[in-house]
Amino acid sequence: ESKRNDSIVPSAPTLFSPAEVIEKVEVEDYEELAKELENASPLEIMDKALEKFGNDIAIAFSGAEDVALIEYAHLTGRPFRVFSLDTGRLNPETYKFFDEVEKHYGIRIEYMFPDAVEVQALVRSKGLFSFYEDGHQECCRVRKGNDIWNFLRTMNVPVNSLHAKGYISIGCEPCTRPVLPGQHEREGRWWWEDAKAKECGLHKGNIKEGNLNGNGNGA
Ligand code: SF4
Repeated sequence: ESKRNDSIVPSAPTLFSPAEVIEKVEVEDYEELAKELENASPLEIMDKALEKFGNDIAIAFSGAEDVALIEYAHLTGRPFRVFSLDTGRLNPETYKFFDEVEKHYGIRIEYMFPDAVEVQALVRSKGLFSFYEDGHQECCRVRKGNDIWNFLRTMNVPVNSLHAKGYISIGCEPCTRPVLPGQHEREGRWWWEDAKAKECGLHKGNIKEGNLNGNGNGA
């Protein structure tokens, strides 16, 4: 068991090795590559990615239908890496699925874990289900990181301007809208469908206070 962890931990920091990735991006003519792969199949694209980047890249796996990417990587016959974020609160079925995938493909998923000190502090002060009381943001930040934004700022990576306008979740234009601080991100996606559940009495107040008005959606 400890042998397995030892083999995972040292490699974890290389998952996001921006300097290496950027260096490669700079030396490649990606426009040409994009053109070359315009009509390529997912398998061909995966093959090219693994050929070019090898162990500098890893497939992000959430334990859902994105297992298709692992299958494609497997089909290339090349070595590949897979990583996943274990928030500590996943479904038992998902953990079993991770294990099944590891066995099926003969791989070890490189799990990323939240900061133990931060999780302890949250759970000790607010319990295990604080997200039902005061929203999911804090728990998601602690368990899933907000480090991504620090990373993006540090690297001066361009980001979608919608984030600055209050869009937490960005999807198709007709089905996405900004939310206010403290509002659930579900208010920003498919809100008319959510409204039906709320009408059952779950969050009636939100509807009356106008969260569903003013967008010309006829909801
Ligand atoms: Fe997971 Fe976020 Fe829910 Fe916490 S609030 S259990 S991190 S989805």
